[in-house]
Amino acid sequence: MQSRIEHVKQQIRQAELAGGRTPGSVQLVAVSKSHNRDAIRQAYQIGLRDFAENYWQEAQSKMQALADLDIHWHFIGPIQSNKTKSIAQHFHWVHTVTRSKIAALLDAARPNHLPPLNICLQVNLDAEATKQGVSLDEIGALITSLSPLKRLQLRGLMMIPKPLEDEEAQYQSFLRLTTLQHTLNTRYHLTLDCLSMGMSHDYPAAIRAGSTLVRLGSAIFGERPVQGVYHDH
Ligand SMILES: *Cc1c(COP(=O)(O)O)cnc(C)c1O
Repeated sequence: MQSRIEHVKQQIRQAELAGGRTPGSVQLVAVSKSHNRDAIRQAYQIGLRDFAENYWQEAQSKMQALADLDIHWHFIGPIQSNKTKSIAQHFHWVHTVTRSKIAALLDAARPNHLPPLNICLQVNLDAEATKQGVSLDEIGALITSLSPLKRLQLRGLMMIPKPLEDEEAQYQSFLRLTTLQHTLNTRYHLTLDCLSMGMSHDYPAAIRAGSTLVRLGSAIFGERPVQGVYHDH
C-alpha cells in the first residue's frame, strides 16, 4: 500500500504542475468502501486522514472500530432519508446532496456541538449515463433552498462523469463542472471552493481541470473485493 500511496501523491503533484495549480492544493480522500478496518488503519499509519464511504451500515462498524484515530469521514453514496440523522451526526463531509428534502433533514439532524456539515451538490452533467445528481435545470432551486439551512456549509460541486478512456476527453468533461462552479459563484454570490472530482482512472485529468479533491479507491487500496459485499470481522 505504501508504494501505491507514494505513486498517487507523485501523480497528484505532477498534475498540479501540469494544470498550473498551487502545489498541495488538491486534497486526497481515500475511498475505503468494501475494504476492512485493517486496511484503513494501515493507510492512516502511512499518513492519510480523509476516508470516504458509500453506505452508512458499513461505515458505522468501521467508525466504531477506528474511534481511536483522528479520521475525517466523507459520505459519497446515495442518501436515503432514514439515514440522514446518522450521516449528519458522524460525517465531516457529504459529497452527494441532490435534493432539498435531504438537505433539510441533514441540517435538522446536525448536532449543535459540531461545526456545520460540509456539503457538495452532486451534479448530473451526463444525463443519459447516470441518474444520480441534480440536473442543470434544478440546481438553482436547490441552491436557493439551502440558504436558510445554517447547519450546512455549501462547499462546492461533485460529479461522477461517464467513463472516458482518452485523457483529453476526460479533461474536457471535468472542465464543465469547473465552469459551472464559476457561473454559480457569480450568479448566486457564492464562494464555492471545492470541486470533488477525479477517481482512480481519471484523477490526473480532473486535477488539470480544477479539481480540489480527488476520491481514490483502487489506486490506494488495490482492486476492491466483490462489489457491495462487506464482511465485518
Ligand atoms: C467507489 C467510488 C470512488 C472510488 O473509485 P475508484 O475507481 O476505486 O477510485 C470514488 N467516488 C465514488 C462516488 C465512488 O463510489
